[in-house]
Amino acid sequence: MIQKPTYEELEKKIQKLEQSDKKARENEERYKLAFQTSPDAINISRASDGMFINVNHGFTKIMGYKQDDVIGKTSLSLNMWANPEDRNRLINSLAKTGYVDNMEARFICKGGRIVVGLLSAHLMQINGEDFILSIIRNITQFKNAQEALQKSEQQLSTHLLNTPIGAISWDLNFKTIEWNPAAENIFGYTKEEALGKHIADLILTEDSKEIVEDIFQDILSEKGGTHSINENITKKGRRIICDWYNTVLQDADGKNIGMASLVNDISARKQTEEALKESEEGLKTILSATPDPIAIYNNQGGTEYLNPAFIKLFGWSLDELEGKRIPFVPDDQKKITSEKVKELLSSGKKVQFESKRLTKKGRSIDVIISSSCIKDINGKISKLVVILKDITEQKQIRNELRLLNIKLEHKATHDSLTGAPNRGAILDRLRNELLRAKRGNLKLSIGICDIDHFKHVNDKYGHQAGDDVLFNFVKIIQKTLRPYDMVGRYGGEEFLLVIPDLPDSIGMVEEKIYERVRAITADQKMVTRAGKISITISIGITSRRGDETADAMIARADAALYRAKENGRNQLAFAD
Ligand code: GH3
Ligand code: MG
Ligand code: MG
Repeated sequence: MIQKPTYEELEKKIQKLEQSDKKARENEERYKLAFQTSPDAINISRASDGMFINVNHGFTKIMGYKQDDVIGKTSLSLNMWANPEDRNRLINSLAKTGYVDNMEARFICKGGRIVVGLLSAHLMQINGEDFILSIIRNITQFKNAQEALQKSEQQLSTHLLNTPIGAISWDLNFKTIEWNPAAENIFGYTKEEALGKHIADLILTEDSKEIVEDIFQDILSEKGGTHSINENITKKGRRIICDWYNTVLQDADGKNIGMASLVNDISARKQTEEALKESEEGLKTILSATPDPIAIYNNQGGTEYLNPAFIKLFGWSLDELEGKRIPFVPDDQKKITSEKVKELLSSGKKVQFESKRLTKKGRSIDVIISSSCIKDINGKISKLVVILKDITEQKQIRNELRLLNIKLEHKATHDSLTGAPNRGAILDRLRNELLRAKRGNLKLSIGICDIDHFKHVNDKYGHQAGDDVLFNFVKIIQKTLRPYDMVGRYGGEEFLLVIPDLPDSIGMVEEKIYERVRAITADQKMVTRAGKISITISIGITSRRGDETADAMIARADAALYRAKENGRNQLAFAD
């Protein structure tokens, strides 16, 4: 029995220590040293409210708190008890006996980690006040190891209980003397049915009946035991494959008295193995007829099989690559390939991706790669199957189609003579610009240009020279306009200019743009196959009013154009 030191006893001790001052200090130092250097978690708390007064280095190390985090707090406020029942036991025991010895308790450390500790504590009085000195030894690792051991022991015993291994013994006359429940399961005879029966009447096939004598003699002469895989027969006449371990049975004097066997029914495993072998053969027949290249790797990445389509397309034979990696991944495809292989190995599910592979001669082939795993009976990945679909031609066609589409789209929206947007396209743009201008309340101006007396040009120089004029005229206008202005071929020799986003004080600027177009056209001679030709243009101009449509604007510009012609051509006219 450990007794609680009384205050008087402590007092006496202190008095003694005081008498020998030097010794006292030494002792105090020693106590402090023990307190500070102990690997156990030591703390002193006030009994009245549980407030921590001091904790040692071991405490901060085990519990994960800093000294300042705990001093002045209580174990309750810091939520240190994983099991509140532990705290009640401590308090009850302290109240009853003044101490607690090696009590197992669980504590929550800073951050939530759980520590299992052996807690010893006792009450002590200092200056008339009760304090609790607690020492916690960390036994978490020990506990964990103990639990793991218990668990594995449990697993082992359930394993042994459910063991499917039959245990059978025979005497020297082949009569059964032992027959365990697993043997009942395997062969269908109960223990009562089997005991005393001759082996030949129980489980031997016709063939093995003849050689049983020899087998038995073999076993009796082989002290170390024999191992064999035999076909046996059950009570119901079913043939099963059994794995036998046999050894001789001897009495205390070393005399042979019979034979003991452990037997395992491996029919299911054999069947699976056979089926697997068969299905693998079948698979290879299918693969050899598949038009897509296929490679099978082992789980180390070594090549195991290449189908004829692979050999034909890539140019390697299996002899060259067997057991090796196929060197057909171009450098720029290595990253995606290794990512996809990782994905396949970790998920076990089929992965598919587009990539490129090189033939033996170095030709690059666009492929869609589908990879999947084959697992063995234990569920472990044993092989990787890679199917490569050659899409080089498909990709080429796709690219050509894309180009063709771009060309077609251009053709549908552009005038073939001048390359400018055609009537439909320039009207679409005008409608878009109108919407934009309305949204932003912006200015938008249009001008219809018509070449003056163009009929004369055709008449004088020929229609082809007229074409050249139209072509050059567009080039000149395009150079003159700002990048965001647009010109489209509106009709035969009529062009629509769309001038967006004019500054507010636009009157002058707008006039300037159109005037520049008019002046440059009049000044510059058009180079044609019939020589240089001078032309002039008239422009009818208007700008957006309210919510009007493109048609309304065009009608107004047309009317203005008519006036420009009336007034003598080679001039601008603004709509009223
Ligand atoms: P104005 O406009 O000044 O009244 O006289 P114009 O001679 O230009 O009269 P109009 O606008 O009626 O005639 C347009 C002519 O443009 C008629 C047509 O032969 C010619 N034309 C239209 N498209 C083409 C083309 O693609 N190539 C050529 N060479 N001529 C074209
Ligand atoms: Mg015209
Ligand atoms: Mg004209």
